[in-house]
Amino acid sequence: AATLTFTFSHGGPSSTNKGRFILKGKGNTQFTRKNEEETMDWVLSWRTTLFSLLEDVPSHLRSLVASISIDGTSATTIIVDSNTGEPIWRPFLYNESCPDALPIVKSIAPPTHTVCSGSSTLCKLVSWWNIDGPRKESALLLHQADWLLWLLHGKIGVTDYNNALKVGYDPESESYPPWLLSQPYAKLLPSVSAPGASIGHLKDDIRTQFGFPGDCVVCAGTTDSIAAFLAARATEPGKAVTSLGSTMAIKLLSNTRIEDARFGVYSHRLDDKWLVGGASNTGGAVLRQLFTDGQLEELSEQINPAEASSLDYYPLKAVGERFPVADPGMAPRLHPRPESDVEYLHGILESIARIEAKAYNLLRDMGASGVEQVFTAGGGAKNEKWMQIRERVIGVPVSRAVQTEAAYGAALLALKGYQNAE
Ligand code: ADP
Repeated sequence: AATLTFTFSHGGPSSTNKGRFILKGKGNTQFTRKNEEETMDWVLSWRTTLFSLLEDVPSHLRSLVASISIDGTSATTIIVDSNTGEPIWRPFLYNESCPDALPIVKSIAPPTHTVCSGSSTLCKLVSWWNIDGPRKESALLLHQADWLLWLLHGKIGVTDYNNALKVGYDPESESYPPWLLSQPYAKLLPSVSAPGASIGHLKDDIRTQFGFPGDCVVCAGTTDSIAAFLAARATEPGKAVTSLGSTMAIKLLSNTRIEDARFGVYSHRLDDKWLVGGASNTGGAVLRQLFTDGQLEELSEQINPAEASSLDYYPLKAVGERFPVADPGMAPRLHPRPESDVEYLHGILESIARIEAKAYNLLRDMGASGVEQVFTAGGGAKNEKWMQIRERVIGVPVSRAVQTEAAYGAALLALKGYQNAE
């Protein structure tokens, strides 16, 4: 399922942050490759959701909306007509793989580049290009957030450097690399702004229809997961966010950029710093297989987090791990199971904490800034005992992130765009 998050930020000239409100829309329609008409409904539902969210902004607040930004799902790709802005092909969703394009992409890109994955935006572009599709001459590539923002500002062909990473953009040199620019489909690539940079004013017709102010700016967006990181306000190098959802994803702000395709580790640019990320297959999905959420709470209560568990597991839902150990054949290890469920859960939580610590250590060994503080998001963040175990095992302060909604992070970007536009 794709998630769209629309964020509206407002503030007056004398106060940059009088208040902001955040509206969120989710699209959960099933995607099928067979029925093109049905899949074209995706873009229709995104557009409809966007406008119904605008409609939802209480009318007395509309005149206060100073800037708008949107985060979208990374690598959700739309091919549009550059004259009309309308999609000319069904959207490629974030998780769709294009194995047909992968060998071609691997033959042109550097070996460890993030585009060398079947679901990268570049593989989607190459796959579409190689279909004898219509209207290649006037085609243009946009990401989900770019297209929705275009509906608001009307300047076709603008993206941000977070969304553009998976199509091959180099945020360090602030350009598309020569190996990409020499390809025939390079003319489809959008121009790239910094996330949060003001792109233009809200289109007149939308402004008057809804009653937004004349100087309301529309700012470049970012990806969903980066927006969620921004929400935690981890603004110093060494600050990190661990998402304990079905899987465990870690993101660390670093002074240095690191990449290692073996572990699926890559860096997004955030102004003058780098957001380094990696994702393990361990996480809450295993807990859910063994315990209900109610049991998790009840058993966790009885754990003494100051005491180290000697049980050494590698909790996985299925065979295969990618980070901090790259081993597609790794088997889950959840035995021996002690008689006490409290001890068992303690062993699992402690083992996941060890994997988390190992992940941060690996990032440091690869050259990233060392972790100094961890904020926590996701379903596992509500577990206070686990937080204390993790603090002991990782050896740095661990707390729950106050804000974890991606929409909040996009609101911070919109605020930045408003301040810079002034
Ligand atoms: P996702 O969005 O990846 O599906 P969520 O962020 O909604 O995941 O988190 C759901 C996960 O949180 C579940 O896998 C569940 O096992 C785990 N979870 C729920 N409650 C607790 C708890 N008290 N302690 C640890 N994990 C929990």
